[in-house]
Amino acid sequence: MNRGKKIVLVSHCVLNQNSVVKPYGRKAEDFKDLLMKLIEENIGIIQLPCPEISLYGLKRWGHVKDQFETPHFRKQSKLMLENILDNIIEYKNNGYEVLGVIGIKGSPSCGISTTCRGDWNGSIGSGGDLGEKLKSLREVSEAGVFMEVLKKSLIEIEVDVDFYDDFEIFMEKL
Ligand code: SF4
Repeated sequence: MNRGKKIVLVSHCVLNQNSVVKPYGRKAEDFKDLLMKLIEENIGIIQLPCPEISLYGLKRWGHVKDQFETPHFRKQSKLMLENILDNIIEYKNNGYEVLGVIGIKGSPSCGISTTCRGDWNGSIGSGGDLGEKLKSLREVSEAGVFMEVLKKSLIEIEVDVDFYDDFEIFMEKL
C-alpha cells in the first residue's frame, strides 16, 4: 500500500490557471517545483473550488476584497467547501494528516498573507471618478474572503493547519 496518508489543499488555480481573471494566467510550468515536490513526497492534492469562476464566471472584472465581503459570498463559499470539509473529517477520523492549505498571494478570494483592497464600486464610466477609484487599490496584510471562510470552517471541525501563499516556505516545511 502506497498511501502517504498526507494531504494538502490547494487553490483551484494552482492546478488550473484557466480560471484566473483575464488577462492573467501563468504557465503550468510556473507551478512545477511545487507540484513535483508534492509528487515526490507522495502527498495527496485536494483542489479547492474557484469561488470567483463559480460566482462571476470567466468574464468577471478583477475585484477587491471589499466587494466580496458580503453574506452571500461567504455563504456560497461555505457551500462550495461543504463536501471537501466532509472529506477532511473522514480523513482525520482515519489517521490522515492535512499538511496545509496553499493559496494565492494578493487574491481577494484566495490570498493568505496579502489581499487587495480598494474603494471599488459603481458603474464603470459613470460619475467620472473611475481613475480615482482605481488608484485606491492597495495591498493589505489580510487573507482573502474565501480563505477566511475556509480557515473558520477548519477551526469548526477542529482541524488545525497552516496556510501558505509562499510555495518555497511550504516546501521547506516538508
Ligand atoms: S478565486 Fe482563487 S482559485 Fe479562483 S482564480 Fe482567484 S485565486 Fe485562483
